[in-house]
Amino acid sequence: MQIDKRVYVVGSGKSGSNFTDPYDCDTYVVNCGNDLVMIDTGAGISPEKICGQIAFHNFLPSDIKYILLTHTHGDHVGGAAYFKKLTGATVLAHPLSARYLQDGDFNKMSVDTAEKNGLYPSGFTVEKCKASPFSDGEILKVGDVEFMAVDTPGHCSGHNAYLVTTPEKRYLFSGDSIFLGGRISLQNIWDCCLADYVETAHKLECLEFDALLPSHFGIDLSEGKEHIQKAVQIFERLGIPEQAFIARG
Ligand SMILES: [Zn+2]
Repeated sequence: MQIDKRVYVVGSGKSGSNFTDPYDCDTYVVNCGNDLVMIDTGAGISPEKICGQIAFHNFLPSDIKYILLTHTHGDHVGGAAYFKKLTGATVLAHPLSARYLQDGDFNKMSVDTAEKNGLYPSGFTVEKCKASPFSDGEILKVGDVEFMAVDTPGHCSGHNAYLVTTPEKRYLFSGDSIFLGGRISLQNIWDCCLADYVETAHKLECLEFDALLPSHFGIDLSEGKEHIQKAVQIFERLGIPEQAFIARG
């Protein structure tokens, strides 16, 4: 689904528009001119459906030069090894997440906890994948588009949002940090932290962008910042923003 001049949603499960595998997070492709950058990879259960979307827009898998991961939960990185092999792209992630994924540390990734608790089909796992660290504040330039990593813990550790600047517009790909309406995703996992979430909300509020594109529950292409401000306001009144329950499958 093309949503803007440069941005395509090529994967989306039940917590989104539900046109690829139901377990997929919203998976994006940004057109940088000659090359594409993919953001997250879906759950890896039916990656051929995402391939179908890429082909539908007349792109080739080999057009994808970089894959940026927001964090290592299964619905975001399950397809990482598959798409790395298919495209030959360089995979970049927060330094912690790059290590978890490369080592296959499913405990740190909360993949085993999620599978045991029925969030994924029985036997679901994530294939190890070589990934390079992309640290807070670093910038990747592809064609005329810049991608800046923004360390955004709270939902989990090793979480990057990506601030993307094109000649036309600025986008914040917020992963599972803050969703439309200022909603957040707290989960009973080892590295979810409310205090970190508050700092992340303040940090994102200081960034300049037009569009907010989270990994679930819809996008705002013009007034994205309002959703971050809403979360900040609730935190400042000592409240906790509404919970966004991410449906799996
Ligand atoms: Zn997540």
